[in-house]
Amino acid sequence: MGRSSKDKRDIYYRLAKEEGWRARSAFKLLQLDQEFNLFTGVNRAVDLCAAPGSWSQVLSRKLRGLEEKGEKVEEVKIVAVDLQAMAPLPGVTQIQGDITKVSTAQEIIRHFEGQPADLVVCDGAPDVTGLHDVDEYIQAQLLLAALNITSHVLKPGGTFVAKIFRGKDVTLLYSQLKLFFGGVTCAKPRSSRNSSIEAFVVCQNYSPPEGYVPNMSNPLLDHAYDVDFNQLEGPNRVIVPFLACGDLSAFDSDRTYPLQLDSGKQYEYTPPTQPPICPPYQQACHLRKNNLLSREDAKRPDQNQDETGPTA
Ligand code: SAM
Repeated sequence: MGRSSKDKRDIYYRLAKEEGWRARSAFKLLQLDQEFNLFTGVNRAVDLCAAPGSWSQVLSRKLRGLEEKGEKVEEVKIVAVDLQAMAPLPGVTQIQGDITKVSTAQEIIRHFEGQPADLVVCDGAPDVTGLHDVDEYIQAQLLLAALNITSHVLKPGGTFVAKIFRGKDVTLLYSQLKLFFGGVTCAKPRSSRNSSIEAFVVCQNYSPPEGYVPNMSNPLLDHAYDVDFNQLEGPNRVIVPFLACGDLSAFDSDRTYPLQLDSGKQYEYTPPTQPPICPPYQQACHLRKNNLLSREDAKRPDQNQDETGPTA
C-alpha cells in the first residue's frame, strides 16, 4: 500500500495528521461536542482508555484553550488513564492503569484533591476478535467497567460519554445507564464509519439511585437492585433516542476523497503526529527484521515431532 493510499481512503485519518491529532477519533469527540456542548463549565475531566491520546488532546485544547484565552475558568485538571503508556501531553496527568481497578479510581480522586469530576469520557475498546458476539460482549463489559469507575469519580449532575457497540443486547445497557443518568442518548458522529456498529452514549445529569454505594462489581450481575429488565413493560421500557451528530455537511467517513481537495492547494503527505511508542506488534517486527521468524529452531514442538516421529 502506498504512503498516501490510506490518506485517500480515509479523510478523517488524513485530516487528523494535518491538524496534529494523534488519532482520527479526535473528530468523534469534537462532533459529539458540537451537538451536546460537552465542555461548558468543565474544570475537571477524566479520559478513560485514553491512548494514544487524541481525546485527551481535544480536552486539553478545549478546556485549557479557554483558560489561555483568559476566560474565567477555575484551574483545569485533566486525567488520562490507559493500560498502555502514552506520550506526554500539555496539562494532562497520565495514569498507566486498569479502569476495572478501584486503585485507579482512588488515584484519579487524589489528583483532583478529593473533588469529583465534571466530565468522564471513555473511548475504550478491547482487542477485537472478529467474532461479533464475543466482541459485543467484551465491549459491553468494558462500558460497565467505565460506568463503575465513573460512579466513584463523577459529580452529581455530571456527564459521561462512552463508546458502545449497537449489538442485539444494547437495550439492556441503555436501561442500566438510565438508572444512573437523567438523560441517555445514543449518538453517531459523522466521523464514525456507517459500516461500524460503534456509537457513543452521551449520559447527562448523573443521579445514581438513592442509597447507591459505588463499588467495582459488575452492575449487570449485581442483584442488589433486584431489577429484572425483561419484566419491565410499557413506559418502564426505556427507548433511547438515536441521533446523528456533527455538521451533516461534514466529510463522509465512508467515502473516498481525491488527495487534492481544493484546486489551490497542492496535496502534501503528513507523517503520523505521534507514532506508537511501544506497539504490541513491536516484537513481531523485530523478529521479522532480524530474520528470526523462519529459523529452524523457532518451529513449534509439534512440527518437529512430525518430522522426527514421537519421542516417547
Ligand atoms: N480515545 C483514544 C484516542 O483518541 O487516542 C483511543 C482509545 S483506543 C480506541 C482504546 C484504548 O482502550 C486502548 O489504548 C486500550 O489500551 C484501552 N483499554 C482497553 N481496556 C482497558 C482497561 N481495562 N483499562 C484501561 N485502558 C483500557
